[in-house]
Amino acid sequence: MTERVVILGAGVVGAAIAYELSRLKKFEITILDTGSPAEGSTGAALGVLMGIISRKTKGRAWTLRRRSMERFPELLAELAAAGQPVPHNPHGILKLIREPEELEKGDRLREIRQASGWELAVWDQGTIQQQCPQVQAENIAGGIFSPQDFQVQPVPLTKALLAVAQQNGVRCQFGVAQPMLQCQGQRCQQVVTEQAAYPCDWLIVSAGLGSLEITKSLTETLSLGPVLGQAFQLRVSLDLEIPQTFQPVVSFEDVHVVPLGQGEYWVGATVEFPDDTGEISSDEDLAQAVLRKAIAFYPVLKKAEIVRHWSGKRPRPNGQGAPVLKGLAGYENILLATGHYRNGVLLAPATALTICDWLLAPEAIAF
Ligand SMILES: Cc1cc2nc3c(=O)[nH]c(=O)nc-3n(C[C@H](O)[C@H](O)[C@H](O)COP(=O)(O)OP(=O)(O)OC[C@H]3O[C@@H](n4cnc5c(N)ncnc54)[C@H](O)[C@@H]3O)c2cc1C
Repeated sequence: MTERVVILGAGVVGAAIAYELSRLKKFEITILDTGSPAEGSTGAALGVLMGIISRKTKGRAWTLRRRSMERFPELLAELAAAGQPVPHNPHGILKLIREPEELEKGDRLREIRQASGWELAVWDQGTIQQQCPQVQAENIAGGIFSPQDFQVQPVPLTKALLAVAQQNGVRCQFGVAQPMLQCQGQRCQQVVTEQAAYPCDWLIVSAGLGSLEITKSLTETLSLGPVLGQAFQLRVSLDLEIPQTFQPVVSFEDVHVVPLGQGEYWVGATVEFPDDTGEISSDEDLAQAVLRKAIAFYPVLKKAEIVRHWSGKRPRPNGQGAPVLKGLAGYENILLATGHYRNGVLLAPATALTICDWLLAPEAIAF
């Protein structure tokens, strides 16, 4: 009998799960969202995939990153072949480093990655100046260049995943009323909205910050909090820009400059925590500080106009590492795929593949 899967949340994580499950041709899949796809945290993300260049070298954190970076190139090729090409910057990521000691750590990371078949290069100041004259390298010791990491536009990615999932038979229902879970014993029997009931053999909760409300009435309450991020789209007049064929994402102390082509850039992001009362609001000074930092290492941006300024809330788990990827305690058929905090775009493919593994071999589910 075909097993029925209901996925709650159509951000990049839910969309990736729907897509990967749909390829298995074993499940009857429905994805529900109370809003529109990619309008949550995903809609604010820069889509920088810091996988190989990340400092994680072992455990789940590295396994998920490695799995995503192995899957991403194939995934983009599959989506393009299905008529859904996703805009991305394939030039790699250059992470600038201020201190010489950090550069030595970079060299150790390069050796570790090389041993498992990944490429990284450690560049001194002169090499950066030569390879990337658009970068102001005066105050840095050098950088690590990762040719296999890249940037992908999160909203088109999510929409492409959903479009192809739908072609593969996934039922998509957006703008639904807050879904209620009907459970019996250790199983969720169905998800009920004002419009319809969706019986399920598996329930996947991938609703980002909305996962909190969904699990509130269940045995294990999730603890997730928002961390706000502000970002900008900037435009430099093409007359002012010296054309560069090599335009990697450049990152320095958590500020990313993402070249989009045609003089357009994304710059971000702030990291803003709620105050003691749990309130969170955009801090203009922090946003300006991000812009100033970006201009300092990417000087052409000084002449840029701000085309767009936005913010979003990252779902951050409290008291456990991101993401929350496990079976919900007390239930046999509810899986949590949420709380991806700052790396949800990066980790979406690996999250989706883990869910596929678990649905194919439920004895392997981590609780
Ligand atoms: C400024 C900024 C920059 C970022 N940059 C990056 C980056 O460069 N790289 C990276 O990897 N990550 C980045 N992130 C983090 C990334 O955006 C998140 O980790 C990721 O989008 C989480 O995806 P998600 O699908 O879990 O959640 P969301 O995108 O929030 O999607 C959750 C969905 O669930 C729906 N929903 C809510 N409640 C319910 C309910 N009860 N029932 C059904 N549906 C529901 C919502 O409508 C929403 O569509 C950034 C985030 C921000 C804010």
